[in-house]
Amino acid sequence: MTKTESAPPTNFIRQIIADDLKTNKHDGRVRTRFPPEPNGYLHIGHAKSICLNFGIAEENRDGLCNLRFDDTNPIKEDIEYVESIQADVKWLGFDWGDRLFYASDYFEQLYQYAVQLIKDGKAFVCSLSPDEIREYRGTLTEPGRESPYRTRSVEENLDLFERMRAGEFDDGAHVLRAKIDMTSPNVLMRDPTLFRIKKVPHHRTGDQWCIYPMYDFAHCLSDSIEGITHSICTLEFEINRQLYDWILDELPVDCHPQQIEFARLNLSYTVLSKRKLVELVNGGHVSGWNDPRMPTLSGLRRRGYTPESIRNFCERIGVAKRDSVVDIALLEYSVREDLNKRAPRVMGVLRPLRVVIENYPEDQVEALDALNNPEDDSMGWRKVPFSRVLYIEQDDFREDPPKKFFRLAPGREVRLRYAYYVTCVKVVKDEATGQVVELRCTYDPNTRGGSSPDGRKVKATLHWVSAAHSITAEARLYDHLFVKENPDEEKDVDFKTYLSPNSLETLPFLVEPSLANAEPGSKYQFERIGYFCVDTVDSSEDALVFNRTVTLRDTWARIQKAQQKKHQK
Ligand code: ATP
Ligand code: MG
Repeated sequence: MTKTESAPPTNFIRQIIADDLKTNKHDGRVRTRFPPEPNGYLHIGHAKSICLNFGIAEENRDGLCNLRFDDTNPIKEDIEYVESIQADVKWLGFDWGDRLFYASDYFEQLYQYAVQLIKDGKAFVCSLSPDEIREYRGTLTEPGRESPYRTRSVEENLDLFERMRAGEFDDGAHVLRAKIDMTSPNVLMRDPTLFRIKKVPHHRTGDQWCIYPMYDFAHCLSDSIEGITHSICTLEFEINRQLYDWILDELPVDCHPQQIEFARLNLSYTVLSKRKLVELVNGGHVSGWNDPRMPTLSGLRRRGYTPESIRNFCERIGVAKRDSVVDIALLEYSVREDLNKRAPRVMGVLRPLRVVIENYPEDQVEALDALNNPEDDSMGWRKVPFSRVLYIEQDDFREDPPKKFFRLAPGREVRLRYAYYVTCVKVVKDEATGQVVELRCTYDPNTRGGSSPDGRKVKATLHWVSAAHSITAEARLYDHLFVKENPDEEKDVDFKTYLSPNSLETLPFLVEPSLANAEPGSKYQFERIGYFCVDTVDSSEDALVFNRTVTLRDTWARIQKAQQKKHQK
């Protein structure tokens, strides 16, 4: 990507940075960071933050973005998450160079900063129980009360804090708190906890520490240590900003980053909270973090989403100061738009109906030419075998066609894609059930390739496969994970209540033989039924598994059209 200084700001954060550059606020530097807690896999909401932080760095000359793990809560953290997060950021197409950091690398420094606050009379060791601390804190409408331990001497505080570190006390016996203001209207400023005892090993520091810094203490100081200029975070941290600034104002730091909040991404028909996603994984409601129905980056990747489609989506949704819900159809639109240009088109049949071409020679097979992508001629042509017995979709035939149903029906002629015009001459039914089990058709040999020399028109083109040549694969068709637009809407109803029973449908899939060696992860448009991706987990040489990324039905384009119409009125 090219770096320019004059790209027009398209959101308020870019505007702030452009203004800061003009006034040379940070000596012309732009330094951002993406700070995940390694307590889950990244989801599409994180992608918004990644695109924003790394994007801003890329757009600005000398701009840099760090990847920093905010690993201050060892109980929920795991090395598996650390690795998956790095893989996902790279996959999205961003590069942190040699700037991979961990808050845990700063534990000693953070400890020393805490000691400094104690020495300055700005922090104290509090020995109230967790319940008492809560009780003393007050409420939104009532001020809090000062802890009886608030007046401890600096010496006593230093001694206790050192012994907390040395492991002399049990979890919860003491905490280190900032001495700010128990009557502050901002509850977070009522002597917040800075360090707590947790006698658990950490995935990076082992048992070196038994006290850990709180998020609010670690985050601002980690930003400062790294020389971050703009600390971009989501709106729920707006009330933390006062504490962020207090800590950096009270300590002798060289760099005081500006915290800027933006609205987090919410997406319809799914949940974007690691806590909830963990619940789905641990409860066995999905097959794992990378289940193709999950809104995680690993799930979307496995489903067939491309990094480009996700980056385009993030650009399209923009960055605002107010919370809103983005229609999941916009995400689907983004992947369709991307795959339309580059996924080769092929044919496969999901719900087969047998078709016998009565006037086609029994032992004849033709290799017909099929275009790989009409959007891009450079993708070339392939051969598709045609023979006497074929399969088409059950949906493409109606014995008694309703109005506007232009596909196959008794006596009607249609085009088989890249093949011939065929006419249905007889319908064979199962005697017991009355179900249509086979169609007898005739073909017109003069229409090879799918056009008629006499200019005769047909109203439908169907996809098909040759029965003897098709490969039986497996198709996994996905629907929204939840039946409700906002599964979180009702406070006293568990979001899992709204899990969709139909989010996964598995079907045998008859696909054309050119797909015999399809690589895991490769993407195709199956004509008329959607974009698919060869599954990277369950597909093998003997079993081809296709995940449907998205259908071709473009709800988003339709919604847009409807909205435009409304506006015009
Ligand atoms: P979750 O709410 O899913 O548990 P989190 O905020 O705890 O997410 P972090 O690992 O702390 O997850 O997130 C890293 C960064 O990604 C943070 O800066 C956070 O603000 C941002 N982020 C998280 N969720 C979203 C979202 N839905 N939209 C935009 N940014 C997000
Ligand atoms: Mg968080």
